[in-house]
Amino acid sequence: DPIQENYVRQVRDCIFSVAYPTPFKSRVLLVAVSKVVLEEILDLDVSITETDDFLQFVSGGKVGIGFVPLAHRYGGHQFGSWAGQLGDGRAHMIGVYTNRYGERWELQLKGSGKTPYSRDGDGRAVLRSSVREFLCSEAMHYLGIPTSRAASLVVSDDDVWRDQFYNGNVKKERGAVVLRVAKSWFRIGSLEILAHSGELDLQRSLLDFIIQEHFPSISMNDSNRYLDFFSRVVSETANLIALWMSVGFAHGVCNTDNFSLLSITIDYGPFGFMESYDPDFVPNTSDDERRYKIGNQANVGLFNLDKLLQALKPLLDSRQKQLAFQIVEGYSSHYYLHFTELFKAKLGFLGEGEDDYYLIAFLLRLMEDTKADFTMTFRQLSEITQDQLKELHIPKEYWALQDLAKHKFFSDWVTMYLLRLRRNKGDSDSKRRKRMTSINPRYVLRNWMAESAIRKAEMNDFSGVHLLQQVLQHPFQRQSVAEKAGYALHPPTWAKDLKVSCSS
Ligand code: AMP
Ligand code: MG
Ligand code: MG
Repeated sequence: DPIQENYVRQVRDCIFSVAYPTPFKSRVLLVAVSKVVLEEILDLDVSITETDDFLQFVSGGKVGIGFVPLAHRYGGHQFGSWAGQLGDGRAHMIGVYTNRYGERWELQLKGSGKTPYSRDGDGRAVLRSSVREFLCSEAMHYLGIPTSRAASLVVSDDDVWRDQFYNGNVKKERGAVVLRVAKSWFRIGSLEILAHSGELDLQRSLLDFIIQEHFPSISMNDSNRYLDFFSRVVSETANLIALWMSVGFAHGVCNTDNFSLLSITIDYGPFGFMESYDPDFVPNTSDDERRYKIGNQANVGLFNLDKLLQALKPLLDSRQKQLAFQIVEGYSSHYYLHFTELFKAKLGFLGEGEDDYYLIAFLLRLMEDTKADFTMTFRQLSEITQDQLKELHIPKEYWALQDLAKHKFFSDWVTMYLLRLRRNKGDSDSKRRKRMTSINPRYVLRNWMAESAIRKAEMNDFSGVHLLQQVLQHPFQRQSVAEKAGYALHPPTWAKDLKVSCSS
């Protein structure tokens, strides 16, 4: 039975607590909406966003009639250690909607007030982090990466106090709420907490529910269904992290409570898109040990899957446990294969070449040495012709390649690369460029881009948010507004000093 009080406490024997959003006391403004999410996922006409009811609904001001808002109880390993009960400390699931395609979507407000899981937190989210989550989750979707989506973003005039860099400098900010939607918000930590507190019946019920709802290819009568489920999570998590790497995305806080059981990207906090290529890139200044640096994400994925396995163990017999260990052992090669496939496609390769992995690693090394821009190196390799490359004459517009060309081994790499492209069967240079420009983005949400939009939004000018939203819906398509804004250029010098932390 759900428990109805909102006070902070340790909760037992449940998966959700009933928890009502706390309405803002002050004026609420609509910052942005995703028309596509409203229309294609929620079957809503975008004109509804002009109504007061909509504003109330998406800010936690009013709960729909007959709706019972819930906060999810979960635990997790944070930065390597078991953290006990965490849970939705500032999020409310306000409904589940089955749309005209028969898809079931869970609607969740983030920043909508305290719940039993708020611990020391105030249940709120500030505008800057909410703009980042809103823009990035949508941007990831348009990059083709599984992710939660964002339907709307509102800001209030309610004061929220944050020490952004944990340096004693507490500042007044404003509370914001994002309406996020996902097929499911269950994470590794959802199962971990039940295993840790020995609530095995409940754990079995939850697992069966997840399998039934979200893994239709697994039969509920199969006694190996938990094993099959685990195997799917292992391979899909490897795929997701390989996808992150293929666009230079560092999640920032890869704790087990932020790792979805459906292997979608969730919980956008101090994430970052890597600019100049660097495997040690850490987007989160609060990550002192650099645990979640970009080059460590695949390892951390394995750590998290091992924690999932620990949580599943009580439900497996000894033979199944042994098989589960073998499944975990397959993670690395699965990741490596998927990573290689993605980077081969990024380089325009068709079929198999003996040295494909070597060519990828060689290029990454050149990028690391020359600090070439990750996104634009791949993009410009997609745009430049083979003839231009062959002559080692790099036109000025290909600025990232010009950086790369400073390396003494650049010409060696180009020679090997062009030889490899010649082995593509049934290809032409225009086909190759078309293929590559359709998967190597020209625009990603760089920190400085988000930051400029945020600075304007703080002054209630939401045009920067709207511009980025529009541009990032078509990351593979050259757009004049984006070019004018400098989104395909070297990041401005002020961008170097930008920092993001866990404070949100
Ligand atoms: P995160 O690092 O964003 O994954 O958050 C870790 C935990 O802290 C989750 O249980 C969040 O719900 C909780 N949390 C983060 N910020 C707040 C806040 N302002 N108020 C209450 N809980 C929070
Ligand atoms: Mg989280
Ligand atoms: Mg977070």
